[in-house]
Amino acid sequence: MEHLSVTDAQQCILEFVKTLGAEPVRLEQSLGRVLADDVYANRDLPPYDVSAMDGYAVRSADLALVPATLSVIEDIKAGDMPAKTVHAGQCARIMTGAPLPAGADAVIRVEDTRASSETEVQINVAVKPGNDIRLQGEAMRNGDAVLAAGTEITPGISGILATVKSAQVRVHRRPRVAILSTGNELEDIDDPVDPDKIPNSNSYALMAQVQALGIEPDLLGIARDDPAELAEYLQRGLKFDVLLVSGGTSVGVHDYVRPILESLGVQMKFWRVAMKPGHPVAFGVLPGNAGGNSKDTFIFGLPGNPVSSMVCFEQFVSPALRRMMGHARIHRRTISARLTHNLKHQPGRTEFVRVTLKSEEGGYAATSTGAQGSGMLLSMARADGLLVVPSDSAGLAGGSMMAVQLLDGTVFQEDAIFKE
Ligand code: AMP
Ligand code: MG
Repeated sequence: MEHLSVTDAQQCILEFVKTLGAEPVRLEQSLGRVLADDVYANRDLPPYDVSAMDGYAVRSADLALVPATLSVIEDIKAGDMPAKTVHAGQCARIMTGAPLPAGADAVIRVEDTRASSETEVQINVAVKPGNDIRLQGEAMRNGDAVLAAGTEITPGISGILATVKSAQVRVHRRPRVAILSTGNELEDIDDPVDPDKIPNSNSYALMAQVQALGIEPDLLGIARDDPAELAEYLQRGLKFDVLLVSGGTSVGVHDYVRPILESLGVQMKFWRVAMKPGHPVAFGVLPGNAGGNSKDTFIFGLPGNPVSSMVCFEQFVSPALRRMMGHARIHRRTISARLTHNLKHQPGRTEFVRVTLKSEEGGYAATSTGAQGSGMLLSMARADGLLVVPSDSAGLAGGSMMAVQLLDGTVFQEDAIFKE
């Protein structure tokens, strides 16, 4: 099998992965979820013409000559309804958000007036009709579609949903995700320290990557490189919507993951991508109803090397999970940044170099986090972003403007835009 490019591999995945169905959640629990339905306004807002300022509701025609002295006929606070009509020579004291009384056609802010007594005020400015009035329905009209299905619930959207009284909203379901690590050499977090073993970091880094997308995954633990044990663990994982398997996907004699998945009915779509780190990354589909599951299960075989595993998650798993959750923006936001130093690269694979970003005049400066071995997790842990080195590059010169994928947990865009 040929090596796919990163974008071809992403496309392959997105051909199979579909947005999940909907479920109701309380508004208070909905941050970060994606609306499954259009949402409509159920009233006009403001419900009538209201004052935009603390001041006086006037008839603008009374202000042909200023200063003008008007008599104050009532006090209207937000929440009050006006009782009187404003006639020539009269005005009403009014607070922000209070309904405009009949007869008045403008508001004068208190700063442009001088109260001479409780019942009289001097107005110092002339204004046009409509001044400092918020018109009925200007923020939202009854019956208007105010939010479209597919909208991610952000704090502002929560405010809109509360405005239209959506105490409960229908959002796309989050995928159930299982994480399995494989390898005889691994020791788990609560095992006593054995100097001959390698600590299992992938399960926890992957878990956090999944959690950062708003999904609580299940950790299945560590399977030994033993076909029977692996088959048992993989079978458990295939009951989820998504199974992430770390390690065992290379071509070593003890890398059993792929053949066992295939024996369990998984159709492997690819297992090699022309990228660095992360070369042996695999994707497969277990069609619905196999494995006791009514929906398709998607399987990602991630490389065991800790950096590779995280980088592959970013390129392949994260867009798939976000697609399942209904997001339109599924890819990490990519910015252009100035590389601060030369960078070696051998043509053949797209490379994701871990960089820190510093803002500078006109943009960002990107600097490598240091030694970039795929086992050096600190290079990833310290990174703000992944700088993309195109596969045909023979090396980059300091000063080059390069694409950098931001690793920030909340910022995404619709398309993966980078030259690879
Ligand atoms: P593999 O892909 O199974 O050949 O593993 C490649 C390298 O990644 C080996 O050096 C492993 O020790 C290491 N590795 C595999 N799984 C994990 C894990 N869960 N946590 C940390 N390192 C791992
Ligand atoms: Mg292994």
